[in-house]
Amino acid sequence: MSQLTLALHRVQTQLAEAAHAAGRDAATVQLLAVSKTFPAEAVREVYAAGQRAFGENYVQELQAKAAELADLAIEWHFIGPLQSNKTRIVAETAHWVHAIDRLKIAERLSAQRPAHLPPLQVCVQVNVSGEDSKSGCSPADAPALLQAVAALPGLQLRGLMCIPEPTQDAATLAARFGVLRQLQQQMAAQGLVLDTLSMGMSADMAQAIAAGSTLVRVGTAIFGARHYPA
Ligand SMILES: *Cc1c(COP(=O)(O)O)cnc(C)c1O
Repeated sequence: MSQLTLALHRVQTQLAEAAHAAGRDAATVQLLAVSKTFPAEAVREVYAAGQRAFGENYVQELQAKAAELADLAIEWHFIGPLQSNKTRIVAETAHWVHAIDRLKIAERLSAQRPAHLPPLQVCVQVNVSGEDSKSGCSPADAPALLQAVAALPGLQLRGLMCIPEPTQDAATLAARFGVLRQLQQQMAAQGLVLDTLSMGMSADMAQAIAAGSTLVRVGTAIFGARHYPA
């Protein structure tokens, strides 16, 4: 069995163990394989091992890989920050977008989503750490943005996404992930059902699952360390 297949199985096992430890059914946590910086051949190998959902951060890379792997039934998730001049490619190529943080981007994606495709599945990114450097809307601004995004015809609002600051401190992670869970409950009280909490990466997957994650975005633990081009 290949290294990538073994790594995928290891992550699937870790996901199941974290779900069981949290008293949850593992089937309620989707695994997104984050393939950014890795070649199409690596994606093909992980696909052959049964993985269907893959995440990309860079528009050109998504476009190139989606074209090269057009023979596979991949569900592409765009998880990176999105500039308004790049929305068209994403609207035409991706199935999901995770990092919507302002209405302008959502409006462009909705308008540019081709009519023959199902609505783009989207999450709103929330800045749960309060750091200036991190993207995402503030928790205070999230309800209005969510209501506005929910009204756009080319999009189907699915939920919330966050990237906490890197830490192994369990209490900090629980607090950060808890912000999304609270927003989800607040929106439900307003009649807006959000079924997706996109939270958890290689280093904090178990904590995210304990906090209610329904989708973990895992790169390094499947594909190995990334080497960014200079
Ligand atoms: C790169 C990336 C991931 C994957 O991170 P790992 O630590 O490699 O698992 C998840 N989410 C987002 C938004 C990313 O940019």
